[in-house]
Amino acid sequence: MTIEGVKWFFERVAEYSFSAFASWSSFTAAIGKIAGTLTDVESGLAWPYLVASLLIAGVVFVALNRGDALPPSSFHAFLFPRHIYHHPSAVLDYRFYLISIVLKFLLWVPILAGMGTLGYKVMKLVLIGYALWEPPKTLPLAWLFVAVLGFYLLYDFVNYWAHVLFHKVPMLWSFHRVHHSAEVMTPITAYRAHPMEFFFIAILQAPVVGLAGVFYQNLPAHDMQATTIFGMSIVSFVYGLSGFHLQHSHLPISYGPLLNRIIVSPIQHQVHHSIDPRHHNKNFGVKFAVWDALFDTLYVPKAPETIQVGLPGVDPREFSTVCQLYFLPFKKSVKECIGLARKLLPAGLSLERYR
Ligand SMILES: [Zn+2]
Ligand SMILES: [Zn+2]
Repeated sequence: MTIEGVKWFFERVAEYSFSAFASWSSFTAAIGKIAGTLTDVESGLAWPYLVASLLIAGVVFVALNRGDALPPSSFHAFLFPRHIYHHPSAVLDYRFYLISIVLKFLLWVPILAGMGTLGYKVMKLVLIGYALWEPPKTLPLAWLFVAVLGFYLLYDFVNYWAHVLFHKVPMLWSFHRVHHSAEVMTPITAYRAHPMEFFFIAILQAPVVGLAGVFYQNLPAHDMQATTIFGMSIVSFVYGLSGFHLQHSHLPISYGPLLNRIIVSPIQHQVHHSIDPRHHNKNFGVKFAVWDALFDTLYVPKAPETIQVGLPGVDPREFSTVCQLYFLPFKKSVKECIGLARKLLPAGLSLERYR
């Protein structure tokens, strides 16, 4: 890569990073997206998905009540127990979410979209410029559905490996442990994620986004309409109705032996957050569990297990403010870098010499 190439790259990054502030209309558009959190189907908290999760929880409530497995309680008390929803960890999640949602639309989304655009430009250069590939101009409907599902699976496959790396690479774990620091789980806990996670995932996903951009670039928009609903991928919309909010909840819901191997059920993600050593490094899947089944990281409890979530051996006071959630990981990752540098330095040399 030439100096001009590097300069161009950083100029684009700067351009995308501040694009929400480029004009009043782009700023208000970004703020408008915050207002659309409950109505925009691209938002994980859009009302159709919330209603679907509520219905799944309702079915479980009725089934448990019929089997006398529950002490008498109202559906509201079953769904929103005070000791979970008023727990300091949950209150911290709400605070973190309010700050994150503003930063997300003003800063993170433009940067991530920019990374996708860069991915598209690079893939176009490689696939069309060098490999001389001709993207399809038309496809039968069945193939369009296969492509939509294929890209969704590919995206989730990359997310699975990104999640594995977050647990295995100490510097990345410094950031991912913010998510695992939650001591109780509510659907808002899903958003307790450090922004560095988004950037790392966006870098890994850029080639997939770029590949999809090149693949679809010549296909007529009206052909694609059959694979979309409310302007978004039909696969993504159907997944939204799967009750994924319950992954971060106190309800240990299992989808049964077959579905548990296909989609990540609530109990599987709760196991992923568990402090029990038997559950460590299990269930890395984000949406689909097929990757866990394939790479032997799947763990589905065969009998009811008590699951305590959090970070073993960590003082909860380490993550008790929004500032700590944002800034402590940087300190921790620098320490990890210094530790790694110490290990890699040739024998006889030490960092102390250069202080
Ligand atoms: Zn994790
Ligand atoms: Zn989680």
